[in-house]
Amino acid sequence: MSVDPSAKQNETTQEHGHPHPKHELSYHAKRIYAIRELLLEKGVVTREDIQAQIDYQEARSPANGARLVARAWVDPKFKARLLADPKAACAEMGIDATSLNEFVVLENSEKVRHMVVCTLCSCYPRPILGRPPDWYKSFNYRARAVNDPRGVMREFGQELGADIEVRVHDSTADIRYLVLPLRPPGTEGMSGEELAKLVTRDSMIGVVDALPALPGSRKNA
Ligand code: FE
Repeated sequence: MSVDPSAKQNETTQEHGHPHPKHELSYHAKRIYAIRELLLEKGVVTREDIQAQIDYQEARSPANGARLVARAWVDPKFKARLLADPKAACAEMGIDATSLNEFVVLENSEKVRHMVVCTLCSCYPRPILGRPPDWYKSFNYRARAVNDPRGVMREFGQELGADIEVRVHDSTADIRYLVLPLRPPGTEGMSGEELAKLVTRDSMIGVVDALPALPGSRKNA
């Protein structure tokens, strides 16, 4: 009797009360788990070490960058410090950017927009923005950000006038960039916390501007 190969994929397990799909681990996942077990067995790391590192990685998110940008929008002196010495400005805000070799903040203006890419791989300011999105690591983005940055922006929903210059910056292991987007018009009365909600991850990579201050956005963000 033949067995339907798809049947196995549709099997589920009943862990902690609800069904989980049972699936085969990929080669790399198996290898990672095997290395983890060996490191634990040999006492190189403990389960607590691993969990602490996972927690640390998860805690780094675009919220860090958004705090920096929002503060820069409301505090011109902080903005000057952020542009002059980004790592020191991060430390001031309790953000640990010491793992970055060189860290540069690129200020957008009405006439110039900056866009960040890593053409070689996926270099990204992780302490500030967390893990890069999959599209940032894609070959398509890495090639097109250089060849057709305006086209990429258009796909992210942003049409730039021909009079606005686009500057593309190629990250490396040694240098990481953060875009300081323009403060959206109509946000004069907003607090730093409210402003931070307008600062998206993509606006700090530079593929779009910060979110507009639409009447509903303050409630829903
Ligand atoms: Fe890279």
